[in-house]
Parts: sequence; C-alpha cells; structure tokens
Amino acid sequence: MIIIDGSEGEGGGQVLRTSASLSLVTGQPFQISNIRGKREKKGLMRQHVTSLEAACSISASECDGLAVGASEITFRPGAVKAGNYKFAVGTAGSTNLVLQTILPALIFADGPSHVVLDGGTHNLMAPPFDFIERTFLPIINRMGPTVSAKLVRHGFYPQGGGRIEIDITPAPLQRIDCVERGKLWSTKGTAYFAGLPFDIADREVKAANKVLGWDEGAIGVRELPEDQGPGNILILEAAFENVSEVVSGFGKFGLKAERLAKTAANRMKGYMESEAFAGPYLADQLLLPFALAGGGSFTTVKPSQHSLTGADIVERFTGCKTSFDQQKGGEFLVRVG
Ligand code: ATP
Repeated sequence: MIIIDGSEGEGGGQVLRTSASLSLVTGQPFQISNIRGKREKKGLMRQHVTSLEAACSISASECDGLAVGASEITFRPGAVKAGNYKFAVGTAGSTNLVLQTILPALIFADGPSHVVLDGGTHNLMAPPFDFIERTFLPIINRMGPTVSAKLVRHGFYPQGGGRIEIDITPAPLQRIDCVERGKLWSTKGTAYFAGLPFDIADREVKAANKVLGWDEGAIGVRELPEDQGPGNILILEAAFENVSEVVSGFGKFGLKAERLAKTAANRMKGYMESEAFAGPYLADQLLLPFALAGGGSFTTVKPSQHSLTGADIVERFTGCKTSFDQQKGGEFLVRVG
C-alpha cells in the first residue's frame, strides 16, 4: 500500500488524480490523507469525487471513504475494462480533469473506449477543452495510442451543462523526446462569449493584440448560444511544427476584460520568447504518460510546483525518476526515467 500525504508539495487535487491514474495502471493500492491539505477549502470536492467514481467505474476498483468533504480515502485498484462510459460531474466541475484521471488506464485497456463527460469544459484552474484537444492529445497520439476529443457543448462556471466526447484506441506507449518545438506555423485566438455583452470579447481582442501584435484578424470573436452562458474565455494558440501551445484567460465576475487578456497575452508572449517545447501546464501533464512509456524527455519553462509534486508521485508508483536541468538558453530539460 502506497501512503500519501495530500498536503505535501503542491497539496491540491492533482496529487489525488495522479495517484488514482497510476494506481489503476500499476495495480498498486494507495491511501491518501490530508486530501488537498494546502487548499483553503480542504478535502474532496464534487469534481474530485466524480474523478474517483469514474476511476472505479472503468475498473473493478474499490474506494473507501469516498464522499464530498472527505480528507482520507483508500483506493484498491481492480482490472480496467474498455467500454462505453458516461459520467456527469454534477456541478460545473471540470470534465477535462475527470478525463485526465481515467485516460491513462483506458490507454492501457484491452480494447477501444468511448467516454461521454458532462459538466464544465472551460474552467478556471483546469485545462480547457482546447488545450486537451490541441496541446495535450497530439503528444499522446505521437506516443502510440489514438485518442480523439469532441466538444459537443461549452460548459462554464457556475452553470456547467457542457459535454465532451472522447474516443480511445489503445496502443503501447512509446518513449519520445520533445526537445525542439520546430518552426512557427500559425498564431490565432478566439474570444468566446455566451449570454454576455459583445463588448467584453471585443475589448479582450484589442487588449491581447496590443501585447502580441499578431496579424490583423488573427484573434477573432465568437458568440455561443445564450443558454450556454454566462461564460467567457479567451483562447490564444501558437502552432509550431512539433507542438501547439494553448493559453487561456478565463472570464470571471469582477475581472476586467483588459486585465484578463493582458495576462493571457503576456503568458503567450513569454512562451513564444522562450525556446521551450512545453508550457508550464503541458509539462506537469506529460510526466505521467512519459513515466508509463518507460521514459522520455522534453524542454519546458521554469518547472511549476505542480510538476515537482507530480514527479514525486510518479516516482512513488513507478520508481521512475525525473530530473529538471536548466539549459544555457534558460529553458529546462526534463528527463523522465
Ligand atoms: P485544487 O487546486 O483546488 O485542488 P484541482 O483539483 O482543480 O484543484 P490542481 O491540483 O490545481 O487541481 O490541478 C490542476 C490541473 O489543471 C493541472 O494538471 C494543471 O496543469 C491543469 N491546468 C490548470 N490550468 C490550466 C490551463 N490554463 N491550461 C492547461 N492546463 C491547466
């Protein structure tokens, strides 16, 4: 039994999801206490419970203590079964984080799976659908499996009501090295809004353009059906030969459109000025699949606390060590295994 203190390192929900994913794939049970111990509102929230319920549903696993607010659970993994699955997060909780929990296991399953997830699709502090589709999954597909994702309906906080659908065809994960991002192919962006004034999205486009100076029309505006709102997200995308980076700015009550756009645009500018392959979010999300592939490497910007904690959890389950070495140009070379 692997024993984890959920308040160590980053101390959030990622510790739990990474542990559950690795437990399903490696067959090792784990116990975690002080769940989300570094968060103001500690313990399991609805979206974490759904992630663990989904992990149990795709396998014959048992999870003792599973309830909203719980600070300790014990997870005993069972055999994973490929199939057709449907899960609802119940609130606007992130569908993409539920996917993150069960995807590794379904990639190692005995056949193809189809997964429907209802809930939030564009949530603060979680990968938006666009990031999963265009940044994360292309790398997974390069490693062997075929995983495709479809956005059926946007879901924003607090209403939720979004839907994504995923098709997974397993294949052994191959080790890859992602050091060079390659030539820049295109830059574009979209300010999405639903049930809110057009002016918000328009101001975001202007503010982002001011920082990035991309070609005229590269960042557009798209209105979504009113019943998918209220919601607003600015998505900025730079497609390189070997990787696409998707940076997002999430609209929320009280946050000025200009400020949101300027922050997102500066993050994209920082990434483009670096030579790194992976931005900070892709970096923490690649550690687990790379370890399950038996190793690999990639360059990234300064490692986040999520990455450092993720590397620890990965090592606990797989024995696979990760090193982070700063290079002459400032970026970091991450070697897994
Ligand atoms: P809490 O922090 O409240 O426990 P949580 O369970 O939602 O919340 P975290 O531990 O913060 O989760 O993990 C969030 C995950 O979402 C990380 O894997 C991170 O890479 C990813 N993520 C967060 N924001 C973005 C973003 N803008 N783009 C891509 N990925 C993101």
